[in-house]
Amino acid sequence: MDTTVLVTIVYCFFAGIFVAPPTEFVSAGITIQNLLSGWLGSEDFNFIYYHIKRTSATVIAHSFIPLGYYLSLGLFAPEQTLFSLDQVEAGWLLFLVISLLLPGLSCICVLYWHRKKWDYHPLARQLSLLGDANSTWRSVASSINVEFRRVDKFTSGTPSRLVAVTDSWIIKTSTYSVNVAHQNDIHLSLSDSEEHALSYQNQMAVQYLNIQVSPVESGLKPFSIRLNSLELGDLKEKLQAPIRNARNIVIHQSLSDRFLQAFTETIQQNSVFIPPPEMELEQCIGCMQKPSNVKLQRVCDAPPDDLPQPTGAAPACVQCFCRPMWCLECMGKWFASRQDQLRPDTWLSGKSPCPTCRATFCLLDVCKILGRD
Ligand SMILES: [Zn+2]
Ligand SMILES: [Zn+2]
Ligand SMILES: [Zn+2]
Repeated sequence: MDTTVLVTIVYCFFAGIFVAPPTEFVSAGITIQNLLSGWLGSEDFNFIYYHIKRTSATVIAHSFIPLGYYLSLGLFAPEQTLFSLDQVEAGWLLFLVISLLLPGLSCICVLYWHRKKWDYHPLARQLSLLGDANSTWRSVASSINVEFRRVDKFTSGTPSRLVAVTDSWIIKTSTYSVNVAHQNDIHLSLSDSEEHALSYQNQMAVQYLNIQVSPVESGLKPFSIRLNSLELGDLKEKLQAPIRNARNIVIHQSLSDRFLQAFTETIQQNSVFIPPPEMELEQCIGCMQKPSNVKLQRVCDAPPDDLPQPTGAAPACVQCFCRPMWCLECMGKWFASRQDQLRPDTWLSGKSPCPTCRATFCLLDVCKILGRD
């Protein structure tokens, strides 16, 4: 094979790894983020400044790729005489001029962004549109940094391709840019989905969803986020707005999401619990987010405890006297966690101990509290 072609192929391979490192290289540390980690600082602690620096460094580093190609070719394919400027072909000379201009232009661009401590960086300009009249982009940045430090945020992906949702913000990072939107200012819609028969990570069919995030009032450009359909349940928990599915895309849910849906539908048909007027209902002690809205009452017609049980049968249901302390979702998750994990088909007919007093209950005994959703 011609040396020029060989050098080109090898160079493209390494440049490809450098621009879009596969997961193995991200963990092995051969990425801009890892090479420059000292200068970039901590993503968890100073999210916005980290990404301002990361995108700037990436623009500069990637602009050297054509020049690197020219130098490698000159070194490993000497028959092209690329290092003797009086003998080199006009085409190659043009390539050399462009590959020298690119790093120059990108350095000028980053220097411009860096003026007044990054006031001119595209991300800083974006943030200045997100604050109110009295706030600067720096105050918006520090609000995002504070929320990103919390452990209860949703994240998916690697630093250069990250989707993060905090209490008030939805953020997507890409190689050269970062998109930010406020949760109160967005419409979300499921734009399309892709299915892949095999994922190299776990040998199962995977579905990726593309969700369009459209800012309403801030005037920012819409962007789309992409994630595994199994992550949708966690994402929804963190989102304040619903995701519209106007195209009726069928979403592959995780096993626990599918069970939770079946659990909720079953409970809707059960009898309801009417709380006595003096009963005070507190927040669910599982998630601390929703009001407790279920009560365990033995309403199924299983034989009472004092009758002899057929051997090997599940324990009979027992009346639970606990006050309502759980929401429907947390009760569903608890119930699923007490079932045989290898036999999901038996879960709906299974039994579980009450999370507080250990009294056995079945799905029929879970009663929604009247007037609490
Ligand atoms: Zn709960
Ligand atoms: Zn109980
Ligand atoms: Zn029961």
